[in-house]
Amino acid sequence: MDKVYKDSQTHYIIAIDGPAASGKSTTARFLAEEMKYVYIDTGAMYRACGLLSKQLGISLNDIPAIGKMLETIEIEIVYSVNGNRIMLNRIDVTEAIREKDISRLASDISQIGIVRDKMVDLQRAMGKDGGVVMDGRDIGTVVFPQADFKFFMIADVDTRAERRVAELKAKGIEADFEEVKKDLIWRDKNDSTRALAPLRKADDAIEIDTTGLTIEEQVNKIREIIKNKSYA
Ligand code: C5P
Repeated sequence: MDKVYKDSQTHYIIAIDGPAASGKSTTARFLAEEMKYVYIDTGAMYRACGLLSKQLGISLNDIPAIGKMLETIEIEIVYSVNGNRIMLNRIDVTEAIREKDISRLASDISQIGIVRDKMVDLQRAMGKDGGVVMDGRDIGTVVFPQADFKFFMIADVDTRAERRVAELKAKGIEADFEEVKKDLIWRDKNDSTRALAPLRKADDAIEIDTTGLTIEEQVNKIREIIKNKSYA
């Protein structure tokens, strides 16, 4: 890694928000690796909540049952050289939370106030000492409004759908472009029109349009911005 940062002891909080498949997680992962920071995928945490509610057969209308579920839920992000593993009540659910129906379930359960409160508390505890790249929908607006850097990534919906199809294909899962696109549009709407912590760009976030950019170009853009501020 070239020495782009002021020193290896920076402890920035870097927030990356944006709609599904806009390039957040890939960028966040690369950046965290390069900066030797911890990468926290907050979407995975909402997915874990959705998965657990399904496993327990809890209806999302049953708020007392959801509350009970949250009392004992344990979500851990375990660092591994081949990518982080997501542990739910000590069971590895890294693959299970990527199942198709879990995306919608995560989007629906993330509308519930007590779920958000719990996840935001956990996320703040995970990021309090800095040295983190956190991606999600409300990191720059709610979780860490005082983050050192805030980015908001966007890309046109066809690009996002193509990326998601390619991602699934790489995992050996065949997916239909139109269906994936429809699902992204549904989730964008669900996430940006909800009452609590809707998906929106923080006023002071820097918008990066990743349409037509390679992963390397996306990461370069962000790296340059951090580098310039670090040396300012
Ligand atoms: O990022 P990912 O697509 O895995 O997130 C799954 C869902 O979790 C999103 O559609 C969104 O509804 C919810 N989410 C959220 N706040 C975050 C991260 C994700 O509400 N910070």
